Amino acid sequence: MTQYVIIGDGISGSSAAETLREEDPDAKITVITDEGEPLYNRILIKEHAKGKLPEAPISIHDEGWYEERDIDLSLNTHVTSVDTDEKIVYTHDSGDIPYDKLLVATGGTPTQLPVENSDADGIHHFWTFQDARGIREHAERADKGVIVGAGLLGIDFAAVCGAQGIEADYVMRGDRWWRYALSADGAEIMHDGMREVGVEPVFDSGVDHFETDDDGHVTAAVDPNGDRYDCDFAGVAIGLSFNTEYLRGAGIEEKNGIVVDEYMQTSVDDVYAAGDITRFYDVLLGEHAQNGSWGSAKEQGRVAAINMAADDDAEEFQWVSSYSITHFDFPFLSFGHPTLGDEHAERRYSDTEWRRVAFKDGKIVGGVLIGDLSPQSTFKQLMREQRVVADQADVLMEQSVDLDNLAPQQEQ
Ligand SMILES: Cc1cc2nc3c(=O)[nH]c(=O)nc-3n(C[C@H](O)[C@H](O)[C@H](O)COP(=O)(O)OP(=O)(O)OC[C@H]3O[C@@H](n4cnc5c(N)ncnc54)[C@H](O)[C@@H]3O)c2cc1C
Repeated sequence: MTQYVIIGDGISGSSAAETLREEDPDAKITVITDEGEPLYNRILIKEHAKGKLPEAPISIHDEGWYEERDIDLSLNTHVTSVDTDEKIVYTHDSGDIPYDKLLVATGGTPTQLPVENSDADGIHHFWTFQDARGIREHAERADKGVIVGAGLLGIDFAAVCGAQGIEADYVMRGDRWWRYALSADGAEIMHDGMREVGVEPVFDSGVDHFETDDDGHVTAAVDPNGDRYDCDFAGVAIGLSFNTEYLRGAGIEEKNGIVVDEYMQTSVDDVYAAGDITRFYDVLLGEHAQNGSWGSAKEQGRVAAINMAADDDAEEFQWVSSYSITHFDFPFLSFGHPTLGDEHAERRYSDTEWRRVAFKDGKIVGGVLIGDLSPQSTFKQLMREQRVVADQADVLMEQSVDLDNLAPQQEQ
């Protein structure tokens, strides 16, 4: 009987456990997580922090779900190290767990700002349900906020402030939000959305240090220009540090994340990885890449499990991810790898509609849609087909994209 051990009960670990049970009905499956609750919907915790959603619908599995599938679940259990020669997982207090096949699905932890007082009371990071509960409880009584981190998680803090009636300054480097994927035109729509909910973007800024009162509660953020922003609530979302410390000495190749091939196999036999933590070989992109999104993590967990159970390279991971934001009056969607590529096309259609598509070697590798998400499936289809279309960008930028207007694909 094969013994599978999965470290992490986020969506990638949990989806792997479910697939392994389907693929290998007799196997012993153990899932270990250092969180105190089984899988919940990490995407929805922001709605809880905003005060818009109670706790119950956010939970996905209760402990009964694991019992029904004969999966051992260890909550509140931190994995301290892994011996890949002896094939043993060591935990802080649940003993040593042997494995035949191991899945590393431990995601990341929000990075702290390396500045004075960054751990002061009232400064929040956002990753777990527990974080969301703390943010909600504090946001309900806070008046003035500062947000740091001009990316997809930072904007969730902006939405929390908006929904909870906190007047906030959103301090960011450079001249716009998510400057790696948006031009000034696209970003301006997002800035307007922020302003409408009471959040003021502040450009060419950042945090040099935080100030606190005598009780250690944050009172202000001071930016590198010396400008001071009063706050009794701060949200920091400057990126993720991958949870790999427990793998030190295990011989698994890491490159700012765990390197896996398209089968989710790491550099060490019988050790697989899935989810945010991977730097995976993206077969559509033709190179290794990273992707922090729910759908991608779920699919990586499923594909890893198929290959673990088959004891072979049975299925490759091939996926176009997407990540949407629904905080404002207009929808926003990023797909694929919008910050990569060697050329791009973009167009603005109205005060709330904009589109940008990134190409690599003439093929679409990602993009951002604001206001009108209708071309999403067409662009994803072109990505999957790996069609060379950069030379016909004018067709892709038409408000309503019609594939019949594209010239037929030339034989390569
Ligand atoms: C506020 C927020 C909003 C988001 N919104 C969106 C969205 O709109 N759309 C979208 O696509 N994605 C969104 N995401 C990202 C998405 O949630 C993640 O990409 C996805 O959850 C990653 O899943 P994972 O299984 O790889 O990792 P995780 O969900 O991070 O799970 C990893 C688990 O491993 C545990 N762990 C870590 N180290 C150890 C250890 N040593 N021992 C035991 N357990 C350990 C962790 O505690 C955690 O439970 C959002 C994320 C957040 C935080």
